[in-house]
Amino acid sequence: MRQKRTLRRGKRPELMWGLGLTEAQREQIAKAVGPGFYVRNFPDGLIPDQQEMTMNEKPSAAWIPHRVWKDIPEEMKQDYRDLDSQRILIQEEPDRNLEMDEVLEQGFLTVIRAPLTKAKVQDAVFRAREVTSLYSDIYRMSEEIMLERELLSRKTDQLLFLNRVLASASESLDPNVILYNAWDYLNMLMPVRQLHAVFWQHPEGSEENDVQIFLGNRMSPQNESTWIERLLDCASSMGGGTVSGYDVSRVTGIPRPGSDKSPNEGRTYTLPLRAGQDDFGALVLLCEKDVSLGKDQVETFKSAVNHLGLALRNALLFKEVKLRADRDGLTRIYNRRTFDERLVHELKRRQRYGHDLSLLMVDLDHFKSINDTYGHVAGDEVLRKVGAILQDSLRSTDLAARYGGEEFAVLLPHTTEKDACRLAERIRSRIEASTFESEGRAFRVTASIGVASVEAGALDRDGDLVLKADQALYEAKNNGRNMTVISRDTPAAQVCPTQ
Ligand code: GH3
Ligand code: MG
Ligand code: MG
Repeated sequence: MRQKRTLRRGKRPELMWGLGLTEAQREQIAKAVGPGFYVRNFPDGLIPDQQEMTMNEKPSAAWIPHRVWKDIPEEMKQDYRDLDSQRILIQEEPDRNLEMDEVLEQGFLTVIRAPLTKAKVQDAVFRAREVTSLYSDIYRMSEEIMLERELLSRKTDQLLFLNRVLASASESLDPNVILYNAWDYLNMLMPVRQLHAVFWQHPEGSEENDVQIFLGNRMSPQNESTWIERLLDCASSMGGGTVSGYDVSRVTGIPRPGSDKSPNEGRTYTLPLRAGQDDFGALVLLCEKDVSLGKDQVETFKSAVNHLGLALRNALLFKEVKLRADRDGLTRIYNRRTFDERLVHELKRRQRYGHDLSLLMVDLDHFKSINDTYGHVAGDEVLRKVGAILQDSLRSTDLAARYGGEEFAVLLPHTTEKDACRLAERIRSRIEASTFESEGRAFRVTASIGVASVEAGALDRDGDLVLKADQALYEAKNNGRNMTVISRDTPAAQVCPTQ
């Protein structure tokens, strides 16, 4: 499209330079371009050097006669070329024809031949303006492209980050490990001091919630109980029901310095974890009070939390499945399979380290008659209760299992015969002291216990441990039941004194 040939007057005259113009040339140009422009002429020999160029106001165009240009040293010519304005060459010698190629190569927009008529000057100025506006369009477009690139690269960073979060979260099926690692990633987005999780589920047909709490860092008992309360509140308000029972796991990673804080020592954020339409848990974060995130960071943060939610849900399902496979369905203590595996493991460890190892075999007395008198349901209740008593009496390294029917096995690493016997008696008397009820009839049960041990450093054949405990149990039954008997090779088993 052809531009309309009028020179519009700006608010402030537009600056043009003349480099060594004759006074006549300066006047011709000034007259042709009108009052919208101011032509500042630097006399030949006093044209600005690079330093002056940067100090002076930049002209939109510079008029340079060929006679001046050819005498400018090459480095200075380059400075002129770098100047952000259009250069117009004036050819004064009538006998010489400058090649256009040469003119362009020298960095000029155009060349005009003297004399400088109004039409020639105006034409050059229009072209200069066109080129300038073209340049500014290109400049703007490049800026837009750069911006797009920047956005794209930020998106790529975001994706890489989320990928890393997901990869790290999928590395483990232990919620504690996932949470411990998640802290590192979320901390890159905002200063997270603490990260805990709470999960809830309604057992079928119940309005109450079974709650699992994962504490993401170790802390003082007081801070821990404040956090547990906070997480339980969260479970009952978000899970929509009262809390029937809860279980607390603690992170096992290296403690992070300065993380022992109560929920009141910062700002807490509760982020629901969702599967389909249902919230199944929440992450609770403790941050500094004055944290503010950009829109991008909030988005990334939300996506990271969603990723973590998925990984945690998988880990919980895995835990649940494993729990079912490892445990006995009735009593919820370990089953025979887990016991056998653990026994092999403990025997191997004992062979290597030579520590004490004891085993209890617990069998309920006349249980058949309990079933016959009070029914199987009451019998099941007794088994459940005995399971709970065993579980309750043990240290975390001990293992209690339902060995079969109404027989239980308890594995006690690092436990001497004497201590095992004491524990057996405690268990036996707790069972004896428990009362049960069936259709208004109260009853009690008793148990017989066989104890077998291998002493630290002893070279006994460890594999006989179950057999020995079983024999001791048999002795207990023979000797009148409701007692603990310690396995003895000779002469006979020894009854453990009641406490
Ligand atoms: P003893 O004192 O000699 O051990 O006598 P007992 O009656 O306890 O032993 P016995 O082996 O004769 O009977 C075991 C009973 O345990 C028989 C079986 O009905 C009952 N039992 C086994 N498993 C279960 C169970 O899961 N639930 C219930 N209710 N009873 C069970
Ligand atoms: Mg029995
Ligand atoms: Mg039995």
